Amino acid sequence: MYFIFEMEFSSNKNYITQLIRAFALKKEIMAEVLQTNEKIILICNQEDEKLESFLLGLEEILPSSLFLGKSKHYFSEEKPLYAPINEVELPLNIAPCPTCQKEMFDVSSRRYYYPFTSCNNCGSQHPFLTKYPYKRANTTMKFLVPCKECENEAKVNALRLDYKLISCIECGISIRMLDKESEHLAHNKGDFRKLFEVSGGAVAAGKSVLMKTQHGYRKFFNPKNNKDLVSGTTLLIASATAINTHLMIVEQEFNALLSIERPLLRVATKSDELKELYGSSVLVKYPDEGMTMLLAKEVISAGLDYIAYKECDENEDADFLVDFDMPIQTQKDTKIFINQDVTLFVSGERVLYPTQVQSAINRVSVAHGLACVNVEGNNIIDSLEIFDAIHADEIYIYENEDLETEAAHEKQFNQYEASMLSVIAEHGKLGQKAVGVHFDGSLNFLYYNGTKVINAVPAIDFESDNLWEKISTLRDGSDRLVGNYKKAYPEIWERLDNLEGDMDIFEVTAITLGLEDESFEGISAQALSFLGKGGLQIDTKVKDNRFDNYAFLTSIMSYQLGDVENDYMCYSIYESFGDYIGEIIPQLLEKVKTNTVILTGETFANQSLYARIQKTIGQYKPLTNKNLPMGKENAVYGALYL
Ligand SMILES: [Zn+2]
Ligand SMILES: [Zn+2]
Repeated sequence: MYFIFEMEFSSNKNYITQLIRAFALKKEIMAEVLQTNEKIILICNQEDEKLESFLLGLEEILPSSLFLGKSKHYFSEEKPLYAPINEVELPLNIAPCPTCQKEMFDVSSRRYYYPFTSCNNCGSQHPFLTKYPYKRANTTMKFLVPCKECENEAKVNALRLDYKLISCIECGISIRMLDKESEHLAHNKGDFRKLFEVSGGAVAAGKSVLMKTQHGYRKFFNPKNNKDLVSGTTLLIASATAINTHLMIVEQEFNALLSIERPLLRVATKSDELKELYGSSVLVKYPDEGMTMLLAKEVISAGLDYIAYKECDENEDADFLVDFDMPIQTQKDTKIFINQDVTLFVSGERVLYPTQVQSAINRVSVAHGLACVNVEGNNIIDSLEIFDAIHADEIYIYENEDLETEAAHEKQFNQYEASMLSVIAEHGKLGQKAVGVHFDGSLNFLYYNGTKVINAVPAIDFESDNLWEKISTLRDGSDRLVGNYKKAYPEIWERLDNLEGDMDIFEVTAITLGLEDESFEGISAQALSFLGKGGLQIDTKVKDNRFDNYAFLTSIMSYQLGDVENDYMCYSIYESFGDYIGEIIPQLLEKVKTNTVILTGETFANQSLYARIQKTIGQYKPLTNKNLPMGKENAVYGALYL
């Protein structure tokens, strides 16, 4: 009789599967662990006397993951058949697993307060990689020789068998702390602990600490003592138990924040102190790598629930500097969006890349600093600079990429076509008709005829220079509006009169409304704080169904002159976009005879717009990216199918 345990797992990443395998080895249990496109499956002999203790232990060593869904178990006489995916070992860039974390806080371990603690199945590995294939000799760790104990551990510890980046305080990366006068180098456990204790204390006391983390330089500070630094920073919530005190958060958001992938997430503020610091919503992070986790631990000891950080470079001014000499390569952090039971990856590289993809043709694609390249028979997407030499029959390059090649067959592509194809390929819908909306600052309606993506209703080009001239000639009476606006809002009028030509409609809208955060985020935050019901109709078009940015701005200005509140206006902006999309999509579907709708572009990751879209076109069950960002980083994958 077989005991079978199935867990839904929506990614081709192997770290959970590998961890279960390693744990089975450690517990000396005969187990088969498989991964398919949708699940991780554990098959054991039901009579195995160690089964129960193995399953109990598994609960403790398994981290929670964004990709893990429901699980179930059953018994079977026959061994079930599954189609396993091809597993490729790629360097991870996630938080330490529960076992590694325990080590970091166990005074008897060789890794007490060692920020670079990781194993085969967790931690920051990718920052040290300099080229493929992934082996120690191709990482910056090659300069460090493992000590006797590490060398021995790599032969006996199931979680670190042949682990490429094995190290400990004895043989690993050393860290140091500097202020304006002195420098302290950490040599042993006590020093490491002391260094983080001093850093945490300094932050709690209102000082700033610039720290080199495995995700790049971060300037940490206590926002309560440094209100002038708060704008544009991320809230680092140090203590899990304090999350519900300060944030309005649903269970899915809570679980996502604490998952081993540790994504960035924008959530509504709850406590008065956070509302005062950040307004109605804030970008939040739970400690995500060794340096940040150890600092957070000491921050809690110093009595704080949270601090803040700014992503910056090594030249940022701060009271203290904590760093290490090992060069690292950083990835753009990953942001997610959650609406009820839907989790979408919005933007970023970390966690999602590197990834292995299936592609039958010998093609290299490059977009936004990412490339898809064949490495030893596997197609890997990762940062362009990590790939050594690139050989391919053809190379596809994103049209705005700053890259010179000598390839004979070089083709250019644009964002919307590659983005749309990335969703079509992820859902196995290549060759079938679909319509799509790509919304990333500007709004485009697309049609895929089974071979090619066509821009069916392109946005009217928006240029923010000479704005008043464009608005005043829009239609009869527009010049009167411009005159009235100049009288009522002379300062905004002046600013809008001097804009550069390359700003997007959201930036210009935010300036028009006088928002502090002059961006899409600023408008989103205002929209979130509106608690009433909608009803304002903002013009989105003047002729031939195309979205008209100037008509849109004109409409906002006339409401502004009519004293409509900003939060109501921002909410209505998204509602109007949703209604406009809801009007065009059914017409397109009817015209080209399909029921498949595809949504791409970061702008969709917005609560007000997303809710409105569900209302207007939810019946078509629109498709979005599954395991890639819905933002621009999906193009490198979509370009494989152009
Ligand atoms: Zn680990
Ligand atoms: Zn060692």
